[in-house]
Amino acid sequence: MMYKTLAAAFLASGALQFASASPLEPRQTATVYTHCTAANKVALTFDDGPYNYLTDIVNTLDAAGAKGTFFFNGNNWGCIYDTTLRGKVKYAYDHGHQVASHTWAHKDLTTLTWDQIHDEMWRVEQALQRITGAYPAWVRPPYGNYNDLVKSAAGVRGLSIANWDFDSGDSTGASAAQSKSSYDQIIGSHPSTILALNHETQSSTAYDVLPYAIQKLKAAGYQLVTVAECLGKAPYQSVGSPQTPDGNWHC
Ligand SMILES: [Zn+2]
Repeated sequence: MMYKTLAAAFLASGALQFASASPLEPRQTATVYTHCTAANKVALTFDDGPYNYLTDIVNTLDAAGAKGTFFFNGNNWGCIYDTTLRGKVKYAYDHGHQVASHTWAHKDLTTLTWDQIHDEMWRVEQALQRITGAYPAWVRPPYGNYNDLVKSAAGVRGLSIANWDFDSGDSTGASAAQSKSSYDQIIGSHPSTILALNHETQSSTAYDVLPYAIQKLKAAGYQLVTVAECLGKAPYQSVGSPQTPDGNWHC
């Protein structure tokens, strides 16, 4: 009640817009998801691209009737506006896979200011909208790291945060054999759902672990869907037409 009174006072003074821009705004904190909610569904996610193996990963998923989710950086292993890489991003989107934000330069967002966090977020959102026409509704902060400021910034931007409950270990030194063993273990424990972290930038993930995991997961009866689908949410805030490249498309 006290808050509403204050908000009304802000509104009356014309200051509500300023108040809404504040990181202290309490109503717009992003929800953080680490588990799928739709039974018997697995969301395979791929971070840190776009990179060289993206098209092959998409083709492997497609051949299995599976959908994946790609959390893209703007400028990490490659520049998202690179002609080849942006074509791969469009290819993934056009084939029905979910494209989402992993923020611009893979910085630890918990070390950044309010303005810096927004800068890392909006650049990728703009790039994905330019390239695909779709404005993402999902972000995965680099390293999975977030704090209240990150959650507020994501919330203001209309984003939900998606982390994971299974890590293939492919970015932290696991061999392909170890990653496959980890998949065997999680599948063997028969969870209702799995939200799996993988990295698009690892050739062993693309060509060895992924085909193995898909086959094992399908044999165990799981349906492989996007993060949005496994949570029963929308993948995008809006969907329109791709834009025409111009001089502003650069990293
Ligand atoms: Zn990452």
